[in-house]
Amino acid sequence: MEHVWGGRVSAPFLPRGTWAHPRVPRRVARQCAGCGDLVPRRRTWCVTCATDPERIAARRHAWYLRHREAEIARTRAYAVSHRAERAAWGRAYYARHRAQLIAKSRATYARKREQRAA
Ligand SMILES: [Zn+2]
Repeated sequence: MEHVWGGRVSAPFLPRGTWAHPRVPRRVARQCAGCGDLVPRRRTWCVTCATDPERIAARRHAWYLRHREAEIARTRAYAVSHRAERAAWGRAYYARHRAQLIAKSRATYARKREQRAA
């Protein structure tokens, strides 16, 4: 290995007045999206906003209010497209629990009749 200028080993010092690379501007710290506190650049929320259940619930509710129409439309689209499936599931459920359901309705009927009589 030869220790000469321009060889495989780089020069130990740059010539006076030259820069190894252009200046890298420092990026400023970010602000928490919830409360505006300063947080590290790669973070969006501060620890409090990220872990406090009340704040998380408030954010979820705000998201729901923003996407309310879309969510309702999505639910309705599902109900419409799976209508037959859901009806079949209901019929199967009734068939499976038929005896139980009939007993329950009979009990309710009897209870109401007793209430009316009393
Ligand atoms: Zn915060």
